[in-house]
Amino acid sequence: MNARRPLRTPAELAEAGLVAPEDLARIEAVAERYAIALSPAMAGLIDPSDPNDPIARQFVPDAAELTTTPEERDDPIGDLAHSPVEGIVHRYPDRVLLKAVHVCPVYCRFCFRREMVGPQGLGTLSPDAMDKAFAYVAAHPEIWEVILTGGDPLVLSPRRLAEIMERLAAIDHVKVVRFHTRVPVVEPERIDAALIAALKASGKTAYVALHANHPRELTSDARAACARLVDAGIVMVSQSVLLKGVNDDPETLAALMRAFVETRIKPYYLHHPDLAPGTSHFRLSIEEGRALVAALRGRLSGLCQPTYILDIPGGHGKAVIGADAVRPKDGCYTVSDFRGNEHVYPPEP
Ligand code: SF4
Repeated sequence: MNARRPLRTPAELAEAGLVAPEDLARIEAVAERYAIALSPAMAGLIDPSDPNDPIARQFVPDAAELTTTPEERDDPIGDLAHSPVEGIVHRYPDRVLLKAVHVCPVYCRFCFRREMVGPQGLGTLSPDAMDKAFAYVAAHPEIWEVILTGGDPLVLSPRRLAEIMERLAAIDHVKVVRFHTRVPVVEPERIDAALIAALKASGKTAYVALHANHPRELTSDARAACARLVDAGIVMVSQSVLLKGVNDDPETLAALMRAFVETRIKPYYLHHPDLAPGTSHFRLSIEEGRALVAALRGRLSGLCQPTYILDIPGGHGKAVIGADAVRPKDGCYTVSDFRGNEHVYPPEP
């Protein structure tokens, strides 16, 4: 498929052969509630003849999104409970989220902020709200790191990004600026010299956390975009969501983590899917997730191991939920090795 611009409506998806005519009415109903965008780079990766295509599953709306389960919630990770001023989330002592923009180049069907992002979402922070957000960061010397997220901060123009970075440069206690983005994968052409210069404009240490969930997303264009960032001195880490029908098997997860490391991106977080509305078809159990993470232990280099985490609903922050290798027993411990065998620690003399 050779789309030249993002596909944004059910009709455009149907025309591209990604939505069956008989499903169109239900997909229109999904579109009334949740934003749609599929970038040309991602559209080009989809095999329309594969009903289980893992790229399509992430971006093409599904009638299952019309089903909301009782445990799902509009603000699954509790951003609002920790938002002292508009655009800032201050959940942990030493860092804040700065949500400058609420649009994305693609809209993930499992998005944890799906009630906030999109053309009908919370929009871009006004100049006045931006002033208040920077004043908040400046007034809190414990803030060591600012994480630009949203929405996808790399949809902002280099000029807007440079402005943000120059304002952060003036706040001495902020040492690290992190960008959470899908852009290097879904719109790799955006990663050009002007954007990279903007990311470095503060003189602070810059990290880019790349969100990708399937190894096919790491195309040669995506890898080249990441190389431009890393060569410019920007450190990259990954974040992925464990998703049923996308990456919930050890082979796919292993290939994804290896693709990150080959691209000089350190695997960082593997998120258990959040309780976002209309996403139950993506969720697997924590036990299933732990079994997958345990399967990676034996087969992959230590460089390729992500940390499996759950964002505790209600805004209580992240918890590491990978399998415990160590258990207390009779005044010592039993430790499981990567084959599942148990050993006593310390060993008997
Ligand atoms: S890029 Fe991130 S914020 Fe945007 S739709 Fe996807 S998960 Fe949500």
